[in-house]
Amino acid sequence: MSVLSVRNLEAFYGAIKALRGVSIDVEQGEIVAILGANGAGKTTLMKTIAGLMDPGKGSITFLGEEIAGVDPARLVARGISLVPEGREVFPYLTVEENLRLGAFTRKGGAQDDLDLVYGYFPILQERRRQAAGFLSGGQQQMLAIGRGLMARPKLMMLDEPSLGLSPLLTTEIFEIIARLNAEQGVTMLLVEQNAHIALETAHKGYVLEMGRIMMSGPTERLKASEDIQEFYLGRT
Ligand code: ATP
Repeated sequence: MSVLSVRNLEAFYGAIKALRGVSIDVEQGEIVAILGANGAGKTTLMKTIAGLMDPGKGSITFLGEEIAGVDPARLVARGISLVPEGREVFPYLTVEENLRLGAFTRKGGAQDDLDLVYGYFPILQERRRQAAGFLSGGQQQMLAIGRGLMARPKLMMLDEPSLGLSPLLTTEIFEIIARLNAEQGVTMLLVEQNAHIALETAHKGYVLEMGRIMMSGPTERLKASEDIQEFYLGRT
C-alpha cells in the first residue's frame, strides 16, 4: 500500500526554486532514504511534506488523500510525524514532558506509548525527570525520535538523525530506527548526509541534487552504482 506519493513537487524561497519537480514514493513498512549534498533541497522536501512550507506546484498524497497545503498540526493528527534537523526539544521541560507533548493530538493512552518509548530508549526513562537541555546530543536525538513516536505515526520523517553525533552514536540511533521499522512496522522517510549508514539501513533511496531526483532505486542497487560509490561513499 502506498503511504506517501509525491508528484512533480516544486517549492520556492522567494525567487529561488529549491525543489524542481520532485517525485517520490514510500510504501507501507519501508525505510526510504533521501541522499544529497548540502543545499540539495532535502530539508525543503521534508518541510513541504510536513506542511511547514507551501508547495508551489505538484501533489502530495498521504494514504490516498491529497495533503499539499494542509496545516501541520492536522497532518500530525493524521499520522505524519517529523523529527526535525537539530532535534528542537524543549530544553526547560523534562524529558517526560517533552515526550507527552508528542501525544498532544490524542486523549489518553499516552502511558502505553511512554512505555514503548522507554523500552527502546532506557536512558530516557532513567532521565525522565531531568530538563531535556541537560541531555547529550545523542540523548536529545533519542528524545526527538521518542517524541515523534508518541504521535503513533503512520509515517515518520527524520531529518538528518546523525547530525552532530559520533560514529558510535550514529550506529546506535540507526540500529534503533531499523528495529522500530522491523518490530513496530513504522514506515520511515529519512534524510541523511551519511550515505553509508543510510544505504545500509534503508530499503530504497533517492538521490537529490539541486532540487531534482537524479537517481533512485533499491539500496542494494544504489550501493553498486559507480556514481554513488564515487560521490557519496567516497570510493574511487
Ligand atoms: P542541508 O543538508 O545543508 O540542510 P538541504 O539539502 O537540506 O541541505 P535545503 O535546506 O532544503 O537543502 O536547501 C535547498 C536550497 O534552498 C539551498 O540552495 C538553500 O540555499 C536554499 N534555502 C534553504 N532555506 C532557505 C531560506 N530560508 N531562504 C532562502 N533560501 C533557502
